[in-house]
Amino acid sequence: MSHRPDSSPYVFSVRDIARKPGAQRTVSGTFPAPAVLGTAMVGVPEGTDVKLDVSLESVSEGIWVSGTVTAEAVGECGRCLDELRLDVAATVQGLFVHDDPHGGQGDEEAEDVFEFDGENVDLEEVVRDAVVIQLPFTPLCRPDCPGLCDQCGARLADDPDHAHEVIDPRWSALTSLTEQEES
Ligand SMILES: [Zn+2]
Ligand SMILES: [Zn+2]
Repeated sequence: MSHRPDSSPYVFSVRDIARKPGAQRTVSGTFPAPAVLGTAMVGVPEGTDVKLDVSLESVSEGIWVSGTVTAEAVGECGRCLDELRLDVAATVQGLFVHDDPHGGQGDEEAEDVFEFDGENVDLEEVVRDAVVIQLPFTPLCRPDCPGLCDQCGARLADDPDHAHEVIDPRWSALTSLTEQEES
């Protein structure tokens, strides 16, 4: 593995294969998760294991990266607020095109297209894109999580028979005040 010691662990030298279409090599190993790999609700904690298994293939435009990334995300259930863990397995793909000192053709805006200097590719953003898209917008501890009682906040998973007496709505405001005092 040819890391530069002063750079991110996701930076790999491709000097040996760049501009040699057809040449390829693989990157396989476990790397520390970069910061902010996820959303506010769920993400892969910084420094935890991210397993990367990708091939770097020299093509005429640059370097084509494809493979898989796996990691474990930690978050909070959107219904009951319990901590949850999610195995994330994502497909990684991206095309690194050579920096164009003459301005480029606007391809930089395209999805999955990144620039590189002809010597090193930085896979951090490709990995981040692949992982974040796999994370649920509202993570749940289990698909049928019953969540919290909307009246008193009790965890319904602990108390499946939990119920409140149905009260005349005119009195419910008063009753919920009384319940809060009692609890
Ligand atoms: Zn839950
Ligand atoms: Zn309740």
